Amino acid sequence: MTVATATTAVPAELLAARMHQASEAAARQDVDLLLITPGTDLRYLLCRGSASHERLTCLLLPAAGHHAPPALVVPALERPGWADVPLDELGIEVITWNDGENPYLLVSDLAGVPGRVGVADSMPASHVLGLRTALAEASQTLAGGVLRELRMRKDAAEIDELRRAGRAIDRVHARMAEFLRPGRTEAQAGADIAAAMVEEGHASAGFVIVGSGPNGSSPHHEVSDRRFEPGDVVVVDIGGPVPAGYNSDSTRTYALGAPASPIVEAYAALQNAQQAAVDAVAPGRSAEEIDAVARGLIAAAGLSEHFLHRTGHGIGLDVHEEPYIVAGNRQLLEPGMTFSVEPGIYFPGRWGARIEDIVLVTEDGCERLNTQPRELVVL
Ligand code: ZN
Ligand code: ZN
Ligand code: ZN
Repeated sequence: MTVATATTAVPAELLAARMHQASEAAARQDVDLLLITPGTDLRYLLCRGSASHERLTCLLLPAAGHHAPPALVVPALERPGWADVPLDELGIEVITWNDGENPYLLVSDLAGVPGRVGVADSMPASHVLGLRTALAEASQTLAGGVLRELRMRKDAAEIDELRRAGRAIDRVHARMAEFLRPGRTEAQAGADIAAAMVEEGHASAGFVIVGSGPNGSSPHHEVSDRRFEPGDVVVVDIGGPVPAGYNSDSTRTYALGAPASPIVEAYAALQNAQQAAVDAVAPGRSAEEIDAVARGLIAAAGLSEHFLHRTGHGIGLDVHEEPYIVAGNRQLLEPGMTFSVEPGIYFPGRWGARIEDIVLVTEDGCERLNTQPRELVVL
């Protein structure tokens, strides 16, 4: 796993507050100990998410009421890489281990006899099974069920980073006429778009989807050697992390020349549905209500079988995280939540379209973090 290293300092008090909240949330959910390996959960808690994949690095965070201090088990050769994380200030005991030692036994020595441990959702199976053997008495559950409660509600600094990411990806969409021209391939355009994402402030181009003509009907198509043709409709869905790790994700649909009227009509229904779904976002509404608004309007236009996916997903340190905007999710929206509103319509073998903005739930509605025109942009 590679997760970009933090380059933006987060104050120790903020990390201490997050660890405290996580240990309280663990106690509420009857999890005795959180075991967090590198990934976005570790980045959230300690502002550092990267480390080797096969050697165990693991934060042990006891639930509130358990009196053991938090501890970090880390390979000795990677200990210097933690120099900029205020582990002392956070009261984290650091235990290093050398190649040839069994790090899972170190974890079990520190852990005592927990009844239930929460393992990081993205923990490699090799570590999950190593910990299961070393902590044979403990049952394992996912730490994500605990940490989602925190990570879903963004604080002011996180919101600033998501706004920064939104502006950066908007600047890339504003330049799309440079990249999409008949005769070029999706792959050529995609490489230029990836470079532009970095130029405009991303740490890296996380993902680049350029779906032209029939390829636009596959929502997660990436790029291919297909050449753009006059009249193509092109779905461009792009995003990635800014240096602090927070992600952008925005889709616009472009037309290379004036589109035919059935396309214009279907697109108008899509745009109407996206607008209505954004307008519906407010504290106290449920995630599934927002999905239902978009889905209802697309169905009313006779296009229900062309809308293949959920309406959106939360976004933060992960591109896809809670809350998911999907039927069955009764999670109530609260100020500080951020997620995509991205209905799409797909006509297999012909064309597709999607409109995606990230929204921030505010006290009385929402703020869009993407502001490029949502019309079918004719280039
Ligand atoms: Zn997607
Ligand atoms: Zn997207
Ligand atoms: Zn998305």
